[in-house]
Amino acid sequence: MTSPLPDGHPQWRPSKALGQNFLVDHGAVRRIVEAAEVDQEDTVLEIGPGKGVLTAALAEKAGQVVALEFDRHLAESLMSDFSGADNVRIIYADALEFPLETLPHPLKVVANLPYSVATPILFRLLENRHCLSRMVLMFQKEVAERILAEPGGRDYGVLSVMVQAFTRPKLEFVLPPDAFRPRPKIDSAVVSFETPSVPRVALVDENAFRRVVKAAFSQRRKTLRNSLKALLGERVEEVLLTVGIDPMRRAETLTLEEFARLSVASR
Ligand code: SAM
Repeated sequence: MTSPLPDGHPQWRPSKALGQNFLVDHGAVRRIVEAAEVDQEDTVLEIGPGKGVLTAALAEKAGQVVALEFDRHLAESLMSDFSGADNVRIIYADALEFPLETLPHPLKVVANLPYSVATPILFRLLENRHCLSRMVLMFQKEVAERILAEPGGRDYGVLSVMVQAFTRPKLEFVLPPDAFRPRPKIDSAVVSFETPSVPRVALVDENAFRRVVKAAFSQRRKTLRNSLKALLGERVEEVLLTVGIDPMRRAETLTLEEFARLSVASR
């Protein structure tokens, strides 16, 4: 186990902006590593290692751990803590910028994500999913609910559709604020994602799919006939009817397959 050196650093304080709520529940650390199904064959990418509690547990199981930390003091402290571990590489970097494709792959991604940038990081991982074999990620519970939402509910939106089109997300477990220091105000949830090599629905053009999904949910209280007008213009009703979708339906009622069919017809 690593020592929490930065606490002793005169200038270091946990940063809200960097989402620094550190896991102190060792049972949760074990369950995250188990959910990731890590073995000696694996290279694991950890985003935001913080004080290294998860990093140390991953390093015991994985062939290699690469950890990206954007807090310079924490990164330096981790470099010193793990200097004797030849299967751990700490990189001081912004996970939103770092070129993931330069790392050895396939990668497993394991992270207690900084809440402020969890969604953009997830979208970035989705873009790089060809380099990834499995992901186990912690989010604030409300974001996890949106990721896992089924059609028909308030939580179902762009995030649900884009994540579920390309991965198989599964809720692993929920953690209360007390599992962290400092304590966040809200519950957290750990979600695992299988990353199949092909999308779960038949897509001809991923950009067209993304455009249609975003446009459909841009005014989610409106009917598809209205919300898709800006994207499809006068063709809107014809396109919807061609793929068997009632123009009076709303985006939140469409299944992944229906979005996929719509994206093919919208091109
Ligand atoms: N993994 C540790 C744990 O579970 O205790 C820390 C998790 S804490 C919720 C999020 C971590 O992500 C912090 O260490 C923070 O400094 C780091 N972080 C924030 N933004 C980042 C970014 N853009 N790229 C990489 N790391 C980032």
